[in-house]
Amino acid sequence: MVEVRLRNLVRDRANNSCEYCQKRQEESPLITLQIEHIIPRKHGGEDHLDNLALACADCNLRKSSDLAGIDPLTSQLTPLFHPRTDLWQDHFSWKEYESLA
Ligand SMILES: [Zn+2]
Repeated sequence: MVEVRLRNLVRDRANNSCEYCQKRQEESPLITLQIEHIIPRKHGGEDHLDNLALACADCNLRKSSDLAGIDPLTSQLTPLFHPRTDLWQDHFSWKEYESLA
């Protein structure tokens, strides 16, 4: 369990938004955004601020303990987005937004 002080720092740094899909906590008030280990503990990741990210449940479950995936365009093993070292706009973009409300 990540200590409360670190959890609050991660949440504040992320502006209370998922660092992968940018969903804001206010968009899912019943499901709290989660503190996620960028390098999972099973791969030696630690509870350091630089290894923690804020993630929605969907992104956290999809990423799970993966560190890389096969790029469908190149078929090459490719590291997953790293919120501390990669730029979001280099990996993701918004094509459209549909409100489910
Ligand atoms: Zn997300």
